[in-house]
Amino acid sequence: MDASRREFLKQSLAAATPLALSAPRGNMASGNTLPGMPAKSSSFEPAYLKSEREGRLATVEKQLWEIFRACRLCPRACGANRLKGETGFCSSTSRLKVYSCGPHFGEEKPLVGRGGSGTIFFSNCNLLCCFCQNWEINHRGDGSYITHEELAEMMIGLERRGCHNINFVTPTHVVPHLVRSLRIAVRKGFRLPLVYNNGGYDSPDVIRMLDGIFDIYLPDFKYQDGTLAAKYSSGAADYPQFAAATIKEMHRQVGELAVDARGVARRGLIIRHLVMPGNIAGTDRFVRWVAGELTPTTRVNLMAQYRPEHKAFTYSEISRRITAEEWHQALLWAKEAGLKNLDL
Ligand code: SF4
Repeated sequence: MDASRREFLKQSLAAATPLALSAPRGNMASGNTLPGMPAKSSSFEPAYLKSEREGRLATVEKQLWEIFRACRLCPRACGANRLKGETGFCSSTSRLKVYSCGPHFGEEKPLVGRGGSGTIFFSNCNLLCCFCQNWEINHRGDGSYITHEELAEMMIGLERRGCHNINFVTPTHVVPHLVRSLRIAVRKGFRLPLVYNNGGYDSPDVIRMLDGIFDIYLPDFKYQDGTLAAKYSSGAADYPQFAAATIKEMHRQVGELAVDARGVARRGLIIRHLVMPGNIAGTDRFVRWVAGELTPTTRVNLMAQYRPEHKAFTYSEISRRITAEEWHQALLWAKEAGLKNLDL
């Protein structure tokens, strides 16, 4: 599983091979067409370009590095001085570690289009769920250390390869690095929208700082009950309140999902919710929350693919997949709540 640095960079260079841009796919996704958005995606301007022109990216980057001195990037607020090499609860120091990068065709359709979502997986995680399907990356920390210039080259390479966006997976604990690399990439002509693909356990203050940088937010909302969140996600009893607050802030920043004429996402929010055995995820409460606190037309990816992984077998109640009845019940709850924009 552990790729050597040389192999890893070789893979990244392969991802940087220029390919022809994908042809338009036509009518594909259910989303809103961005008001005033021309048919050609080439006229799209990602939010961070304006922020860079206004000098805001430089300011935010500086503020984010300051947070590293006594880290409170996430609700754990463990206070590690990462700039001095201390390791936080997320097993991260000030170094940037990446597991993989490449076009991904298994994400939500508006993110994938025809060219794929340019996915970059960061090593380690601040939430650490016992049922993690990527536990080698998130818990064990598999991956390779890279520089900011190398991350910028990965982003540019994925753009040249025809990906529609750069999808940062588990970015919470590395956001200062992302802004630094983004600024390098922008100077080299990078123009794709950025996706913030997180587990839902973020600091609202940090998400507010990211306003004008990310065009697409893709958070999980995993639990509605703090006791269950603490049990299955390494003591994160405050998960429900932080997820609710940060998703509301994300919605305020980017609104509902907007797609271009090809059905490719350009801006907006998609919430993921994994239906769990015995309704441990609180799906009934989740769908009511979306309809009541956001809008019934918010894009929601209700996911049926839970399978026990990693340490899930420690708990008999989550040592199985969901049943057909549990899935149908989840769909019924979504319908009763009035959700109208499900990505199933
Ligand atoms: S991001 Fe990591 S180091 Fe920072 S507060 Fe969260 S767990 Fe601690």
